[in-house]
Amino acid sequence: MTQSQFDACNRRIDYLRVSVTDRCNLRCRYCMPEEGVPSIGHERVLRLEEIARLVGIGVGAGIRHVRLTGGEPLVRKGVVDLVRLIRAMPGIESISMTTNGVALAGMANALAEAGLDRVNISLDSLRPERYRSITRIGNLADALAGIEAARAAGLAPVKINMVVMRDVNADEVVDYALRTLAEPWHVRFIEYMPLGDGEEDARAEYVPSHLIRARIEEALGSLLSADVTGAGPARNWRLPKAQGTIGFISAVSEHFCSSCNRMRLSSDGKLVPCLFSDAEFDLRGPLRDGADDAALAAIWRDALAHKPARHHLDEALTTTHHRMSWIGG
Ligand code: SAM
Ligand code: SF4
Repeated sequence: MTQSQFDACNRRIDYLRVSVTDRCNLRCRYCMPEEGVPSIGHERVLRLEEIARLVGIGVGAGIRHVRLTGGEPLVRKGVVDLVRLIRAMPGIESISMTTNGVALAGMANALAEAGLDRVNISLDSLRPERYRSITRIGNLADALAGIEAARAAGLAPVKINMVVMRDVNADEVVDYALRTLAEPWHVRFIEYMPLGDGEEDARAEYVPSHLIRARIEEALGSLLSADVTGAGPARNWRLPKAQGTIGFISAVSEHFCSSCNRMRLSSDGKLVPCLFSDAEFDLRGPLRDGADDAALAAIWRDALAHKPARHHLDEALTTTHHRMSWIGG
């Protein structure tokens, strides 16, 4: 194990989230304005070979698990090839993806064959009209077809992410829990985080995980603890006899900074040590100026050394202008 795997707080950092594009085929209200985000510009976005080279630098610094995200990763041309490039790297133990799933039905098999291990699919409502209203564009049927295709392609466990919003979809949490009885859905209720433009909304619509759990237990009885592969920061539970599980990602109410294991690479080549901090370390500039691997690795180590000990969202201090679609969640 390389020493550079550890940050200044002695946390082992072996997980990299890569935002492969800031573009998206949906416009979720909590994430993007209706007109979409201002374009980063084609030239500034990393090419696939550049992403692969930087992931390789990360592997040298101890990265073992890679997640592709965005924006919407499935709208990035060549994303299947990128999966294949990363799969071929010695040292990589898992590749996963976070997607809205609406284009997944036609791509799940190719992704699985290229070496993708599993997917997280964002699905903020089980009601077609509400799903459309939250995403502004999406069809629930497409996302459900994506979930089914992922399962059929063996991209398991399939995790379903729901951002819980008090007056928008919180009344569906019991329906989601019920789905886990009949289907192998690993549902994760995500606390709405105050990031970028959506900060005010997030504070108004925020529901802490313990209230979501209380609502489910009141309706369906006590949850039992459960294990899920690649669980990350989620705490997992299940209903008796359920095929799936129920997890809570409580980034706001219970920050899990002390066990944080991740770095983020933005689509324009910035290495970001913390989702909630503005600190970023440019890799694209040096890469395009001809930096060798040792110089890029030094920047990586510098970023690692500057990973903050914790965030301060629970004290109502937002410390970043970053958009989720840029940084990839
Ligand atoms: N387009 C893909 C998707 O929606 O799954 C990947 C990118 S999206 C930015 C990654 C995750 O961040 C999604 O699960 C989304 O629901 C979540 N997300 C976006 N904005 C959020 C916010 N303000 N609070 C909590 N989660 C958020
Ligand atoms: Fe797109 Fe994902 Fe943001 Fe929704 S949450 S707008 S699907 S990037």
